[in-house]
Amino acid sequence: MAAQRIDGKALAEQVLAECRTGVDALAARGIRPGLAVVLVGDNPASRAYVRNKVRACGTVGVHSEVVELPATASQAEVLEVVRRLNGDRSIHGILVQLPLPSGLDEAAILAEVMAAKDVDGFHALNRGDLLGGHTRFPPCTPAGMMRMLDSIGAKLSGKDAVVVGRSNTVGKPMGLLLLGRDATVTLCTSKTLDLASHTRRADVLVVAVGRAGIVTGDMVKPGAIVLDVGINRTADGKLVGDIDFGSVEQVAGYVTPVPGGVGPMTVAMLVVNTIEAAGG
Ligand code: NAP
Repeated sequence: MAAQRIDGKALAEQVLAECRTGVDALAARGIRPGLAVVLVGDNPASRAYVRNKVRACGTVGVHSEVVELPATASQAEVLEVVRRLNGDRSIHGILVQLPLPSGLDEAAILAEVMAAKDVDGFHALNRGDLLGGHTRFPPCTPAGMMRMLDSIGAKLSGKDAVVVGRSNTVGKPMGLLLLGRDATVTLCTSKTLDLASHTRRADVLVVAVGRAGIVTGDMVKPGAIVLDVGINRTADGKLVGDIDFGSVEQVAGYVTPVPGGVGPMTVAMLVVNTIEAAGG
């Protein structure tokens, strides 16, 4: 029997509807949550992601603004923008859209965003809090996936969770969030010797690599929950994830589609974090 799809688009709409209640409560206190997105350069994919984030803010009454800088912007210029936004009382959340053009020191720029406005959860203080098991701003993509797991009532305690990919933005924080829910977590990397031997054990399998088809149906445990983070474009321009959807769907219990899976949840969680930041 084919796996059930976890509809990220529908769930994101539900999360955004909940956000409206938070926005109304803040309005009663005279606060309008504000998000600033810093976009450096002209990466079309980044531009599309930023558009989605701005649109989501608009639907729930969160103020948003995009500060655009050319790809030639210097480190000092980007830092200056971040510092200005740190001091702007109408802005509660700051997001620096990644990747930054080469030549810019990404870590230094992310470190400049004040922790209280770090709605992406990338500041060292927030990462440290995540390591400690509590964070005000969990990174949006992993937080969105945890909401997806909760939406299907997934029992995580004691289960085998395998995360393929160990990026600071997705793989590692997802591993920590799963660990925080008492799953037994394995992180796989490009150096992992026998990927399938790990993925086949997974009750929950998260794939965040950026390579289409890296996980096929024969690498999945029957009934597993498979969350596909990857975003890849095929030669004919089609958007696909990291899993071979057709074969995985035949084996898994639940699976997320691309598009319409993890992506919309990432955006929704950014709005959640912005409202949290505005709440003080
Ligand atoms: P990343 O920083 O490039 O990290 C990719 C990870 O995959 C690395 O840890 C790498 O291992 C690992 N890897 C590469 N080849 C592998 C292999 N053969 N076996 C096992 N692991 C392997 O990417 P990212 O930022 O995490 O993003 C991953 C994908 O998710 C991309 O397609 C990205 O566009 C997408 N994404 C989607 C969303 C969303 O909202 N849907 C959000 C963020 C990212 P090493 O560390 O050893 O190199």
